[in-house]
Amino acid sequence: MNVKEHVPVIVIGGGPAGIAAALTLNARNIPCLVVDAKTGRYHHYGECLPPNALPLFKQLGLQQLLDNEEHTYYLGNQSVWGNNKVAEKLFLFQKHNQGVLLNRPLFEEQLRDLLLKSKSRLLTGYAFHNVVSQGEKLNVTLKSKTETLPISCNFIIDATGRKASVCRKLGRQKEQLDQLAALHFQVTLNTTIPKFVYTESIENGWFYAAPLSKRKLSVMLFTDMDLLPEKDKQQAFICDAVNSSTLIKQLFSKPLTSDKITKLKTHAANSTRMQKPYGENWIAIGDAAYSFDPISSYGITSALAAGYYGAHALADTLAQKPDALQTYQYIMENAFVHYHIKLHEHYNAEQRWPDSLFWQRRHQE
Ligand SMILES: Cc1cc2nc3c(=O)[nH]c(=O)nc-3n(C[C@H](O)[C@H](O)[C@H](O)COP(=O)(O)OP(=O)(O)OC[C@H]3O[C@@H](n4cnc5c(N)ncnc54)[C@H](O)[C@@H]3O)c2cc1C
Repeated sequence: MNVKEHVPVIVIGGGPAGIAAALTLNARNIPCLVVDAKTGRYHHYGECLPPNALPLFKQLGLQQLLDNEEHTYYLGNQSVWGNNKVAEKLFLFQKHNQGVLLNRPLFEEQLRDLLLKSKSRLLTGYAFHNVVSQGEKLNVTLKSKTETLPISCNFIIDATGRKASVCRKLGRQKEQLDQLAALHFQVTLNTTIPKFVYTESIENGWFYAAPLSKRKLSVMLFTDMDLLPEKDKQQAFICDAVNSSTLIKQLFSKPLTSDKITKLKTHAANSTRMQKPYGENWIAIGDAAYSFDPISSYGITSALAAGYYGAHALADTLAQKPDALQTYQYIMENAFVHYHIKLHEHYNAEQRWPDSLFWQRRHQE
């Protein structure tokens, strides 16, 4: 391979985890190159940041990004879970008394702009293709639509999200803890949507809905991948589910019909974990290492935290401090175990459908 360039650290993936890692490395004076397959603004799943995520934004110096008026806020949660009554939880009396609903494409762009202001470099439009060890170096192959780019590095960071593409090439598999999937659409309503995040359990899963703007609503139905109907039946399936719900249907002035749903997308949303998220010259961060059920609204926060702690661990390792990567794993693993206990408690609070496979699976774990 004709290697064109050498960089100390390559970060594959310019999402929240990859950018947090690059900014942290930059603060530790370690040059790095962030590579992302996508260019420009593009759709991303997940917009909800609960108030307790905000201290981390401050810590990472990202708080000012949230001031943009394209991000909106929410006052609390309304949910139907465990019984058919609507429960409301307001953030009014918490220290941070609002949650944030991100304009996610803008947020990703803001993160990248921040990176471009630092000494780290960003290469977009290039996908990670392969990595091969050669002595103390790693030879990485990147591919764009028109060229193959060989680069060498001392250390590679996998921040490719749930796919964990670098880890897979290195022969590391993630443990899949369930098979949750999301069916997602956006719809513009005639009325102003009250600023809440809405969740509701149903016989074969649960709903999430949140206002993206005054009248634009994001709706997700979560169920297991194998419980989803065939593609051509999904629109009717989600309309039926909305129309027979208690809380979600109240957001619509009349019954939902298929013609209102133009782009219905499916996305994996399961919990996964990497048994050991690092090796001698690599580390996995964000969803590539641990991914979370979206009911927790913890994915973005955890990805940012993993980028921060993971990059400090890498910098300490390069400074010959032993056990830094092991400490990173300890912090992330503990958070994941805590999350998993809470998740189990949350699903256990819903016992209305003992014959439903979706709920049986959640009650067995
Ligand atoms: C349906 C759904 C709803 C969600 N809702 C929420 C929510 O409300 N709140 C919340 O906090 N979290 C939510 N999440 C989770 C959250 O979106 C993720 O946890 C978070 O985006 C993880 O960040 P990341 O940087 O690890 O990965 P990602 O955001 O997935 O970023 C990975 C980056 O790597 C790039 N990439 C991938 N493969 C390659 C390759 N081979 N070469 C080069 N680049 C590559 C991608 O283009 C992407 O930019 C949700 C997730 C889903 C699926």
